[in-house]
Amino acid sequence: MSEPLILSIDQGTTSSRAMLFEKDGSSMAVAQREFTQIYPQSGWVEHDPEEIWDTTLSVCKEVLQTAAEKGRTVAAIGITNQRETTVIWDRKTGKAIHNAIVWQDRRTAPFCKELKNAGHEEKVTARTGLLLDPYFSGTKVNWLLDNVPGARERAEQGELAFGTMDSFLIWRLTGGQVHATDTTNACRTLLFNIHNNQWDDDQLAMLNVPKNLLPTVHDCAADFGQTDKNVLGASLPICGVAGDQHAASIGQVCFEEGMVKSTYGTGCFVMLNTGDKAIASKNKMLTTVAYRLNGKTTYAIEGSIFVAGAAIQWLRDGLGVIKSADETESMAKDLSNNQGVYLVPAFTGMGAPYWDPDARGALYGLTRDTGPKELARAALESVCFQTMDLFNAIKSDGASLDTVRVDGGMVKNNWLSQTLSDILNVPVQRPMQTETTALGAAYLAGLQCGIYQSLDDLTANWQQDQAFTPNMEQADREQAIAGWENAVKRTRSTL
Ligand code: ADP
Repeated sequence: MSEPLILSIDQGTTSSRAMLFEKDGSSMAVAQREFTQIYPQSGWVEHDPEEIWDTTLSVCKEVLQTAAEKGRTVAAIGITNQRETTVIWDRKTGKAIHNAIVWQDRRTAPFCKELKNAGHEEKVTARTGLLLDPYFSGTKVNWLLDNVPGARERAEQGELAFGTMDSFLIWRLTGGQVHATDTTNACRTLLFNIHNNQWDDDQLAMLNVPKNLLPTVHDCAADFGQTDKNVLGASLPICGVAGDQHAASIGQVCFEEGMVKSTYGTGCFVMLNTGDKAIASKNKMLTTVAYRLNGKTTYAIEGSIFVAGAAIQWLRDGLGVIKSADETESMAKDLSNNQGVYLVPAFTGMGAPYWDPDARGALYGLTRDTGPKELARAALESVCFQTMDLFNAIKSDGASLDTVRVDGGMVKNNWLSQTLSDILNVPVQRPMQTETTALGAAYLAGLQCGIYQSLDDLTANWQQDQAFTPNMEQADREQAIAGWENAVKRTRSTL
């Protein structure tokens, strides 16, 4: 008899996906639906919660149908989700009181600035590990309560519920029986204390958020409730939840202190496991919960790059110098060196460790010979140099980085993966299963429902596709890095 499957729901920023995983971590079915991005005004981004629910439900039903056709059973559900995106709904009807405000939305920038100017940021960082930035949920909750007519009064009377997408889906999947989230999602709200694992009363007071809006916080592998039979056609236990980057880290089995994963999609997210220590960054990296299992929190340092694959999209859609992203690999390889051409892709400002929102992108070192190949190579190298900048910031916060596990759509580019290893001067490992986000949620559910006995079972599942080891003379590395540093210096808006 075959082993039961695990259903993983991956509710992302642009699409909802469902995947069925075998015990060995291979995927057996996948379904995906995109949904509408709503831009009500400049800098605002919203999602329609009903569309998120409809797409999620339909992809789940599709893969469950596949399982049924093959005579396979599903043991449990894991959920991973776009983090920070905020929704408030009516506890009686389950209907949202407003569209969800997406993590990218900047509408609360003035409120964040006000709090910063009032000198609150240090306290906020000490409690939550985060910065006062509109990115996180807390100021979005405040905005909804102040701007949706009657919302604040209704919240105070206990009529409303707040959640990130995991909570909203759990509510809907359980037929309104359960209002819960997990630690990794809670720790991105600005309302949660990462040291005592509780909602933080001082943060709630600062952001004027009533406590009775908030979900119960569970460990990442826990009993989150049973799905309503009328919803999915079966009553299945929801056993695992984690925000997307945390789930990717679990999918990459980064369970030891010092292990780091780096995900290369449109942007890039680096997460370093720091064990039971919450390391406070002096370089504006975020301190976050990697995961919480069996009542024990494992912490991480996180850094992000706004433009990774987006630089390749720009070459294709903006400049039209390539037709497909894959071409960049052979174009870069054709050149013996970068010809002194550097791209600093600060299209939306510079993030960690520079934090220069007013900087804009620049190309340096152009000559009469510069062509598409040099641009492709400069774009790929910029991803490596930006990762190096993040790594240097993390290192100067006292952490060590020995190897990096990569995933995401860009890393099938072997030239990129090799150059990453060369520039970082550490080995780069690429796994067979690069759908690490969905896999991480499945692993959590599998741990809780007994398919896996321990983290060792998961570690044993990880299989390497290819390893890339540093293969660059130190003098060449130094020269390349000096060129990048010079380009960054010239790009910054304030010197
Ligand atoms: P996201 O999840 O952010 O949508 P994906 O993980 O699907 O992103 O990765 C897509 C990104 O990777 C795109 O920005 C694309 O330009 C880039 N990409 C895809 N294939 C390659 C490649 N072979 N070389 C370089 N970049 C690539």
